[in-house]
Amino acid sequence: MTVERTLSIIKPDAVAKNVIGQIVARFEGAGLKVAAAKLVQLSRAEAEQFYAVHAARPFFKDLVDFMVSGPVFIQVLEGEGAIAKNRDLMGATDPKKAAAGTIRADFAESIDANAVHGSDAPETAAVEIAFFFPGLNVYSR
Ligand code: UDP
Repeated sequence: MTVERTLSIIKPDAVAKNVIGQIVARFEGAGLKVAAAKLVQLSRAEAEQFYAVHAARPFFKDLVDFMVSGPVFIQVLEGEGAIAKNRDLMGATDPKKAAAGTIRADFAESIDANAVHGSDAPETAAVEIAFFFPGLNVYSR
């Protein structure tokens, strides 16, 4: 399998619950390494641009409202098959449908406040990483 990088966001609900460390421990426990990380408050413009693909969806305004409701913890995760591995660890978008033991099953309340984001493909991972970590501040180790 190839070593990949993926973008992970620990969303405002999980940051507010003070479970950043517990979620990062799951990534590390699965063999993913943190290659970049920052705690930031997204602007409305950043949240709208990041989720632009969903701009026409009925939940878009609520999604943007939620993503700017508090700080988020954004990481680049690196490892073998990192994109799929992260998605497996996250669980289904709706926490009620997420498999037991996944991050969303354990930490998320609802489909709107669902604890984490993870890139869904190599192309989106590249775009999302460049969006939040432009330049050289991503480290392989
Ligand atoms: N979302 C929502 N309501 C929906 C579907 C999605 O609020 O009915 C939000 C949810 O926070 C989700 C994000 O929009 O994580 C992006 O949706 P996507 O289908 O890409 O899910 P993901 O890749 O995050 O599992």
